[in-house]
Amino acid sequence: MNSSIPIIETRGSPYEVGRQIGAAARAVLAQMRTETRAEYGDKWNALLEQSKPFCALTEKHLPRVIQELRGCADGAGIPFDDLFLMSVEELLYEEVRGGKNEIAYQSIPPTRPHSAAPSKHKGCSDLAAAPPATRDGHVWLAHNNDLGKSAQAQLFVTRLRVDDEPEILAVTVGGLFISIGLNNAGIALTGNQLNANDSRVGVPRLLLVRDILSKRNLDDALASALHPERASSYNNIISSRDQGIVNAEGSATNAALSWSSETGGTLAHTNHYLAEHMLPYEADGLSVAMSASRCARALDYAQKYRGQFDFDICARFVRDHVYEPWSVCKHAGQSVTVFSSVIDVTAQKMWLARGNPCQNDFSLYTF
Ligand SMILES: [Zn+2]
Repeated sequence: MNSSIPIIETRGSPYEVGRQIGAAARAVLAQMRTETRAEYGDKWNALLEQSKPFCALTEKHLPRVIQELRGCADGAGIPFDDLFLMSVEELLYEEVRGGKNEIAYQSIPPTRPHSAAPSKHKGCSDLAAAPPATRDGHVWLAHNNDLGKSAQAQLFVTRLRVDDEPEILAVTVGGLFISIGLNNAGIALTGNQLNANDSRVGVPRLLLVRDILSKRNLDDALASALHPERASSYNNIISSRDQGIVNAEGSATNAALSWSSETGGTLAHTNHYLAEHMLPYEADGLSVAMSASRCARALDYAQKYRGQFDFDICARFVRDHVYEPWSVCKHAGQSVTVFSSVIDVTAQKMWLARGNPCQNDFSLYTF
């Protein structure tokens, strides 16, 4: 089945690019806002209040990202405050219960009820390979993005041509919220959702992703991922066409770095902490098994195909059904594979399939 994802083309200042995204994704963003508000009901106004210190810190550190959000809100015809809150997963997932009008570095206990975050579970499986693990000397990435099934209809590829930044090609939910992407300076970002117990008021991890992709080299991109005032962190896999790959397994207050140059070229990660000193930050122990099965499979591939990685090996990995239903190509559960990607970072090519890649063809997206 052809499953190409529609492109939103943008160009201009951060505000203008945001406005163009908002206009292009107006219907989807309006629907996402309605659904999110309905999910939180009468808690919405309290969450808006709690999001204010997150916004103040983002304005301070990433003013261009805030301008983009303001433009998007205007273009979509929805209140900026609602759109900003929609980007604060740390609040919507109830990881942080910040005090009103204060920067409260307060996290909830790691034993919180699993039901605290209904229908918000995200998963992702990543396998990344750099020389000497690749057949052609390129840097190759394989990524399956697992979300609630409804997200599949909300996907776009957004091309951001923002003044004074490298051009970015990103897979987004609602045009604005970036899942993965690459820029024409040779930096790519993939990665995985983690559940940490030290999330705090800070710059939302989802908005740091936008900043990471504006960087022109690995060091700057990594510094952005490890921003000292981050609210929390994904497991960010940052790849460079000529500097290899770094896996930054972060939380709000700590991180573990793995470099492809130290692992024979391959890195594998899913949705749980792997580094020994990060294990105490795991907040969702109940779900580790579902993540571990996909991680085990990624590690199998990393070992078995070292030296052979190319498009075909990556495509085989993202279609893998071993350990079903907790497989890399995920069809069942709260999160399913809503899109799949294979990226040649060196050649700056991104192949995407909407839905499960075992049922849908890849389409090529490039600069
Ligand atoms: Zn499948």
